[in-house]
Amino acid sequence: MRLVLLGPPGSGKGTQGARISARHGIPAISTGQLFDRQIAAGTQLGRRAERYVRAGELVPDEIVLDMVAERLDGSVDCAVGFLLDGFPRTYPQAEALDRMLAASCGPLDAVVDLDVDIDEVLDRIRRRAHTEDRVDDADDTARRRLKVFAEETAPLRRYYGRSGLLRTVDGAGTPDEVAARIERVLEDTAHPELHHPELHHPG
Ligand code: ADP
Repeated sequence: MRLVLLGPPGSGKGTQGARISARHGIPAISTGQLFDRQIAAGTQLGRRAERYVRAGELVPDEIVLDMVAERLDGSVDCAVGFLLDGFPRTYPQAEALDRMLAASCGPLDAVVDLDVDIDEVLDRIRRRAHTEDRVDDADDTARRRLKVFAEETAPLRRYYGRSGLLRTVDGAGTPDEVAARIERVLEDTAHPELHHPELHHPG
């Protein structure tokens, strides 16, 4: 299965991404996590990305795309698939992903869009800032990241809506509740005839 997980910061992409990954046996590829590792290791890529991540700004597309292309080329098994978490985040990234996949694994199966309201995500980010030592969870930065999401990333819902891939899931509630909703949606994507018998054409 080839999936994208879309949703604002604090919507639970990391938590749900790990669960989808374990349940379906597909690697979760998180660009945020890849940047964190590069920054911690002090690589050249990390040094190029760090100031954007700290400020809650998007890392420029060409840096992101180089990193993702390397990851997808190097170690993705098309037969197994993957889950992309935090990528794409802009129109140019989405278009570049379509091109990369057209030349390799084939199109995405679904884009799972975690829908959580802004006050709830701000609360979650504040709580997380207390419990985890994240360089980008200070309140101002969190607000900045939410604004960037609304401006740059939310429009991708329309992009994937047009191609029929968008699966919006209510992201409110416990991780278990959200995971159950995601599983229903993925089940429906893999076997649409089970839930929509009119789509089933035997023979
Ligand atoms: P969150 O989902 O909470 O915003 P992430 O771990 O996904 O956190 O991303 C953290 C930061 O990494 C982003 O604020 C941004 O600076 C950078 N980043 C991650 N993915 C991308 C991307 N696809 N394009 C641009 N910047 C990105």
